[in-house]
Amino acid sequence: MADYYELLGVGRSASADDIKRAYRKRARELHPDANPGDAAAEERFKAVAKAYEVLSDPDTRARYDRYGEAGIGGAGGGGGAGDVFGGGLNDLFDAFFGGQGNPFGGRGGPSGPPRGQDLEVVADVAFEQAVFGATVPITVRTAVRCDDCGGSGAAEGTQPVTCADCNGRGQVQRVRQSLLGQMVTTSACPRCGGSGQVIATPCATCGGDGRVVTDKTYQVDLPAGVDTGSTLRLTGRGAVGPRGGGAGDLYVHVRVAPHDRYRREADDLVTELPVSIAQAALGTRFTLATLDGDEEIAVPAGTQPGREFVLRQRGVPRLQGRGRGDLRVRIAVEVPTKLSGEETELLRRLAELRGEHVDAGEPGFFSRIKSAFS
Ligand code: ZN
Repeated sequence: MADYYELLGVGRSASADDIKRAYRKRARELHPDANPGDAAAEERFKAVAKAYEVLSDPDTRARYDRYGEAGIGGAGGGGGAGDVFGGGLNDLFDAFFGGQGNPFGGRGGPSGPPRGQDLEVVADVAFEQAVFGATVPITVRTAVRCDDCGGSGAAEGTQPVTCADCNGRGQVQRVRQSLLGQMVTTSACPRCGGSGQVIATPCATCGGDGRVVTDKTYQVDLPAGVDTGSTLRLTGRGAVGPRGGGAGDLYVHVRVAPHDRYRREADDLVTELPVSIAQAALGTRFTLATLDGDEEIAVPAGTQPGREFVLRQRGVPRLQGRGRGDLRVRIAVEVPTKLSGEETELLRRLAELRGEHVDAGEPGFFSRIKSAFS
């Protein structure tokens, strides 16, 4: 990399003021606005900016004088100054050119019509639709291309005309005062908004916007395994931009209705199977209506409350990955709350056989112990 003093065109003994003056002069000559499309000038501009940054600070200048580029941590092999600076280059621009931003980005020519808005919509879907996937109609209020003008915004039989203010360039130049003196800056043409074209006779249907608002229905494919909180992005299904601008995206937020028997725990489906005391104790068989069809569940004798029977791969298909979660059937033992006289007698008899104390209606064994201590 060239010597920083040479880049600025000053001697090694130059004063701080000399350096500042020299930098302003060079920067004005090499500024991208003064040399549109000139890549070499742009590179030199960056190099000069870096030279100024180093030499304008007494500490870095002293290190540079003593150790060269190695002293300022900038010994990289021939890379552009911008790499070393990172965001610092923009700060320099802001300081000298009045905060107009980095002039290297997005230059030249009309900008074209802006892209349309992204839209968001909530899709209410049934539990089974989310589990197995479905195609659901989603209606959104959106902006679509105006058929009458084909999106141009110009009335039938007319065409948009070249903007007289910018001659179709989409940009206008302004002379402004800055720290460096007079600077020519470029900005989007306010008349045509940067498109380079204006509509002389607007389309009566869309008023020159090139689009109209309407309700539109899309058939949206929900992949199997979506859940509340899943969001699908449909590229290009958002609102179209004005005057033929591209469409934004449509974001579909999924909201799944609860199921009366099943609930999800991640990719597993969970359900409770109520069994009586006798069924839990003696064992039984159930036909369980799963989401995939009927399934026989054998409850063995002595099944405890809360025990789970797991049907592998009968849960929710994994949205990311292969296979499905499990179907977990949780046993809920139900204790009868109303007993006939005969049922009561049978249960008492059972308790007697097992040596279990039962004492309905009077304070129980534990209550008596408790009162003895109180
Ligand atoms: Zn129109």
